[in-house]
Amino acid sequence: MKQDRIVIVGAGVAGINAATKLVDNGYPGELIRIIDKGSDPHNRLPEEVMTGMLGAGGWSDGKLTYHTAIGGQLSKYCGEEKAMELMDQVIANFRRFHPKPEEIFCSDPQEEPEFIKPYFGLRMFPVWHIGSNFLHEIAKNWYSYLVDKGVGFNWDTEVVSIDFETNHFEYIEMGGDDTDTIIGQYNTLIFAVGKSGIDFAQDLAQQYGLPDEPKPVQIGVRFEAPQKHFQQLIDVSYDFKLYRKFDNGVSLRSFCTNNNAAYVAVEETYGNVSYNGHAKKGEEFRNNMTNFGILMEIPGIGDPFEWSRKLVSNVNSGGTGFYYSPSRRPSETSEGETVSANSISHRDLENIVKPAFRGHFQYIEDFIEDMKKVFPTLEHDWGIYIPEVKYLSPEPLVDYTNLALTTFPNVHFVGDALSARGITVSGAQGIYVAENILSN
Ligand SMILES: Cc1cc2nc3c(=O)[nH]c(=O)nc-3n(C[C@H](O)[C@H](O)[C@H](O)COP(=O)(O)OP(=O)(O)OC[C@H]3O[C@@H](n4cnc5c(N)ncnc54)[C@H](O)[C@@H]3O)c2cc1C
Repeated sequence: MKQDRIVIVGAGVAGINAATKLVDNGYPGELIRIIDKGSDPHNRLPEEVMTGMLGAGGWSDGKLTYHTAIGGQLSKYCGEEKAMELMDQVIANFRRFHPKPEEIFCSDPQEEPEFIKPYFGLRMFPVWHIGSNFLHEIAKNWYSYLVDKGVGFNWDTEVVSIDFETNHFEYIEMGGDDTDTIIGQYNTLIFAVGKSGIDFAQDLAQQYGLPDEPKPVQIGVRFEAPQKHFQQLIDVSYDFKLYRKFDNGVSLRSFCTNNNAAYVAVEETYGNVSYNGHAKKGEEFRNNMTNFGILMEIPGIGDPFEWSRKLVSNVNSGGTGFYYSPSRRPSETSEGETVSANSISHRDLENIVKPAFRGHFQYIEDFIEDMKKVFPTLEHDWGIYIPEVKYLSPEPLVDYTNLALTTFPNVHFVGDALSARGITVSGAQGIYVAENILSN
């Protein structure tokens, strides 16, 4: 049996930032072990979107949002000022391990343009652009730093159970012949499994009856069109966020806009496909496309997690999602392959997709119709990949001062496994926990 002082489950953005904060401040790396079911940065394959060094953030579109209202919960725990300071630290870490930090740029729109005002609001906040294709190098540099500091890593290793009462956990080393579980022990656990570990988090929440905070559903489609239709807005706000809110509490927003070299990414969660986006850097990747999620937030749904899961499985067929366009075909990935999707007719949209969304698809249709008014050249020159989903698993109730479970104070939840939805907030939560550990 191995005993480590601090065990971090998940080498994603949250876990890695936590470890970095600890060793930067003199905590012995030898007392930290990071366990991840994915691969180290030298062996991680492009199709391993969700797992491995830097987690989903390591293969993401590399946009670091810089506002406390974006990317999940942060200021709720630590206040506005502290939240901004924590986000600064995350951005500084990405800069520090970036092979070309001078190429990082910040988009920072200042004014809402008149032409969108009748139909949409525009959220304005700074975004730091790291560039997806630099993330690989960042991950390698960051990994080397932590290894040099003595931090232990177990790759291709899945934690399959945790006993919060005895501080033991079981894990399996994958890929080898021996699939026996091994037992480990921790003094402090940082649970940072991200979206790919959401099932595991759910199981633990059920097993221990963890109290949680209520959450709305977030679901929609990934919209794609030639960039030229949006250029007027892009010139004002590089990765614009359009939004609208209705009296019944439903709100819609465009989410994670990618331009210039914009690729649609296929995500797999719980055996189903959903969509997301990638922004590549470098002229060789330019495809002059724009893509973004059109995400609805729907409050008041009893079991949002199950509701979203059922919807997603109803708009999957033959192992992939759907693509609808009045005129276009699915585009290509940066590897030159057609984005995996079943192209569907307008009839399928009516008969399969709309029932699956249980009356809510109309909001998305109206959003697109209004975009056609605001961006008049758009007309039929667009397509949607169905679905895009942000699974908001129940947020366990934590002590706001250190993100530890109220019932198990040596177990800290961070990142997407808690309440984050993006890189900056996930990393910031990791650092927040590390600061608390250091202060004790
Ligand atoms: C295609 C894509 C593009 C994105 N683009 C952006 C973007 O531009 N900007 C942004 O802010 N956010 C983006 N996101 C979201 C962002 O990546 C996540 O919010 C962020 O990575 C969450 O960090 P995390 O550390 O909580 O989890 P993750 O980064 O998901 O890391 C979790 C880690 O835990 C490991 N793990 C899970 N379960 C286990 C287990 N049982 N045992 C061992 N290890 C386990 C996984 O292998 C993974 O490495 C994107 C996501 C995707 C998928």
